[in-house]
Amino acid sequence: MQRYSFPKLLWQACRGNTGWGPAWATPTLKRSYDVVVIGGGGHGLATAYFLAKKHGVRRVAVLERGHIGQGNSGRNTQVTRSNYFYPVSSSFFDHSLKLYDGLGQELNFNVMLRQDGQINLAHSPHDLEIIRRWANAIRMNGVNAEVLSEPEVRKLVPLLNTKSRFPILGALIQRRAGISRHDAVVWGFARGASAHGADIIQGCEVTGIQKSGDRVTGVVTSQGPLNCDRVVMAVSNQCSILARMAGFTLPITTTTLQAMVTEPIKPILDPCVISAQIHAYVSQSDRGEIVIGGSADVYNSYRQRGSFAITRGVLSAVLELFPSFSRLKLMRQWAGAVDITPDTSPIMGLTPIKNLYINCGWGTGGYKAIPAGGETMAYTVVHDKPHPLIKAYDLERFERGALIDEGAASGVAH
Ligand SMILES: Cc1cc2nc3c(=O)[nH]c(=O)nc-3n(C[C@H](O)[C@H](O)[C@H](O)COP(=O)(O)OP(=O)(O)OC[C@H]3O[C@@H](n4cnc5c(N)ncnc54)[C@H](O)[C@@H]3O)c2cc1C
Repeated sequence: MQRYSFPKLLWQACRGNTGWGPAWATPTLKRSYDVVVIGGGGHGLATAYFLAKKHGVRRVAVLERGHIGQGNSGRNTQVTRSNYFYPVSSSFFDHSLKLYDGLGQELNFNVMLRQDGQINLAHSPHDLEIIRRWANAIRMNGVNAEVLSEPEVRKLVPLLNTKSRFPILGALIQRRAGISRHDAVVWGFARGASAHGADIIQGCEVTGIQKSGDRVTGVVTSQGPLNCDRVVMAVSNQCSILARMAGFTLPITTTTLQAMVTEPIKPILDPCVISAQIHAYVSQSDRGEIVIGGSADVYNSYRQRGSFAITRGVLSAVLELFPSFSRLKLMRQWAGAVDITPDTSPIMGLTPIKNLYINCGWGTGGYKAIPAGGETMAYTVVHDKPHPLIKAYDLERFERGALIDEGAASGVAH
């Protein structure tokens, strides 16, 4: 792998950028691997990266049915934060945020992380009370959180209309939260995994799981069958389908979540602003576009196209908060199918099939978890036992009733 550096950029600029090689290799599929990772989204690629880099597992393949990042990892609104309520979520997501802090250096790839904070608006005295309790809980988990008064919110986001029919009485802020470039995270992990010897195979769909008794022995793909010792499923909205192929079921429902961007404008918005009450959030990308998101569709579907009713509802909510945005043109709208668990926390770890591991159920909020998800899954695969940070996210928690209900911290909050 060629290292990227300032002198190299300068040198290439002088040569008309004609000397760059491909960022990752495109090998042909081998017939046997130590570990096969199904799904070339952020979680699959990060798992392969940490398997190869941290644990020295070289014979790793990432099998992606289309192109890497075509799933939710390339469709999200890039919000990265760790203000979760329960200690188990807080420690996992804060670890991920810390990994994001140094991810550019780790991958030698600019992931364009911008930590300008995320604010959650309070529209009523009740909201304010909840936000105070939330801030206290987060602080007790060792994660930074502050409550802002209405003038402080106005100072931070001058364009916000604090006196609309949804008045703003204050807000919760996590200053270390922010956004980064989702494609860069996917490409950076792909490049790093490839440099450490993992094979990234695009256009290779897994159509079957091979087993001997209760142990996985390989997978069947659109490019033929192959043998392997261990398999990781990191296929988000396709997880129920893959689990059924392997012979077990998952408590997942799938629905559509959409996002949209306006035309680019000069920088006017630093933090990401969220209103969980009126179901909308906005941030401004480095390209200047206002990135808009909101609630998911209210019915189950695998479609990657959000319903117009939600588009309209989200946009009217945004215009209540930011009336001046009514002058902007909407440039693009898109959606992804998100895999949601009953408690909105992920499922990670072992499965009823030996040597088959699962990473799914991220729903509307798994982008921020990519570095920690990859790191902890790699550990889990190598040691055949869950990493301490993800022990509580096991599939069996639904049998034990040990749910981690983060409904208030996920959903529209992403
Ligand atoms: C509109 C939207 C906004 C969002 N905003 C945020 C946000 O702001 N912050 C946040 O933290 N999260 C957000 N999310 C959620 C986040 O994007 C996902 O939780 C995360 O990207 C999941 O990553 P993944 O690697 O598990 O899945 P994916 O990125 O979906 O990757 C799974 C891959 O598996 C492949 N695959 C599926 N089946 C097979 C098969 N049989 N064989 C081979 N390959 C297969 C797919 O093609 C896909 O590339 C958002 C999601 C959406 C849709």
